[in-house]
Amino acid sequence: MSDLQKEIKRRRTFAIISHPDAGKTTLTEKLLLYGGAILQAGSVKGKKANKHAVSDWMEIEKQRGISVTSSVLQFEYNDFCINILDTPGHQDFSEDTYRTLMAADSAVMVIDASKGVEAQTKKLFKVCLLRHIPIFTFINKMDRAAMDPFKLLEHIESELGMETYAMNWPIGSGKEFKGVYERDHKRIIAFHGGDHGMKAAEVTEGSLEDETFRSVLGDHFFEKLKEDSELLDIASTQFDKDKINHGQMTPVFFGSALTNFGVEPFLSHFLDMTTSPLPRESSIGEIDPFDERFSAFVFKIQANMNKAHRDRIAFMRICSGRFEKGMEVTLMQQNKKVKLSQPQQFMAQDREIIDEAYAGDVIGVFDPGIFSIGDTLCDPSMKFEFKKIPTFAPEHFARVTQRDTMKRKQFIKGITQIAQEGAIQVFQEINIGMEEIIVGGVGVLQFDVLEQRLKSEYNVDIKLEILPYQCVRWIDDQSIDPNTLNLTSESKRVRDLKGRNLIIFMNNWGIKWATEQNKGLTLSEVGNAE
Ligand code: GDP
Repeated sequence: MSDLQKEIKRRRTFAIISHPDAGKTTLTEKLLLYGGAILQAGSVKGKKANKHAVSDWMEIEKQRGISVTSSVLQFEYNDFCINILDTPGHQDFSEDTYRTLMAADSAVMVIDASKGVEAQTKKLFKVCLLRHIPIFTFINKMDRAAMDPFKLLEHIESELGMETYAMNWPIGSGKEFKGVYERDHKRIIAFHGGDHGMKAAEVTEGSLEDETFRSVLGDHFFEKLKEDSELLDIASTQFDKDKINHGQMTPVFFGSALTNFGVEPFLSHFLDMTTSPLPRESSIGEIDPFDERFSAFVFKIQANMNKAHRDRIAFMRICSGRFEKGMEVTLMQQNKKVKLSQPQQFMAQDREIIDEAYAGDVIGVFDPGIFSIGDTLCDPSMKFEFKKIPTFAPEHFARVTQRDTMKRKQFIKGITQIAQEGAIQVFQEINIGMEEIIVGGVGVLQFDVLEQRLKSEYNVDIKLEILPYQCVRWIDDQSIDPNTLNLTSESKRVRDLKGRNLIIFMNNWGIKWATEQNKGLTLSEVGNAE
């Protein structure tokens, strides 16, 4: 095997998804702890916490205790090179999550053991399904009162319509969460130590046949485990690797990220089971990750990540070959050669200039304003585009004006840059232009982020007026002049930053009217998916 193949084979790139508060940030942090990337786990964000989790860095995240942006973290564990894509759990930022999932080869779904599948878990899960990637489930907070594990599995199956396969089984729960039983090796892992989650948990391992565990676990738990394990073997579905690879069956693990119990058994099984970088679809067919020629696509753009730098970073997922610092590649959408300068990898706040990277890795490169989300970059000898990343139709709209008219330039610059990052969408009324700006978001929290960022990064105060519109649709045939369309009086004809014509509607009735009154008019809920 060549060095290139070895490097790519050992890479694992995945996203972690969850409903807010299920413990995604804590789990991420603990994975870093086990990977040796951090020496001691800090307490996770939250009102009481004085230290923020490593993967949350933006001001607003700290203030609100939610993750707004996805961060990318790389670390080594055993022989694996791991790229974790953290995603915002709040539904208002689900578009960002979707883009991040485009860059992942698998997903880890964190579920709170007392709550089961929650609203946002469902939404994010649906996004994963669109990608057909393997989904692994970590049932967290077993150190608290938890639902019965059999019921939890049933619940996941009925809520998500996906088969489950318990990889391990909890021994007790709450204060009596004593360990997990690994079904494949028929091995008991009993937990102790862990220093309340600050350090890796200590474990005693042994077989279910080993009577000494009767005293380690206590009679009751030892007997219960034997019973459960027999029941599981009879009742559970067959392990099916093929179904797992296609996201039709989810391997389930139990644990507690806070106390570290079950984190390592999860990590090691997950890394063995999940795939190395997968081929990607493109305009010329699948691109093999092991092709020596470099290719990548941009899935995230973020400005001003660090106040000390004041710059803009385009995050790209490498899909094939090897990346070298300063290499020249073709930016396909513009048919232009660009030099990828200041390539960086991230450990939350810390960034590091790198010399090389491989398929599966995510790198951030300095963006002088040339990249857009979905752009393909590849070796000059190649000519293709990766499948586009769609833009979702926002459901919330607001009119934005700057308070100080002298700051027009900063205002336009700020709002355009934030829109290019995909954090919001900007629309201009066709007959008015930039005089009146309407912003759209999948959730209203995106407007708060816009307001705060314009203030702190561009020094612009804005007035935000929420508009009563609910839907927007792209006009499929862009040669139609929107002014000729017969629309309800409250519908608005607008253009997005890419110059595409759209209509903003009050409600679905307006959409129905438009398609009924204008013969041949077809509208789309998703832009840019061609
Ligand atoms: P996120 O919103 O999904 O990123 O959730 P966080 O990781 O921020 O966790 C939310 C809250 O749950 C925090 O107060 C954590 O300390 C707590 N938490 C996370 N994991 C566990 C766990 O395994 N057990 C318990 N008891 N609490 C946990």
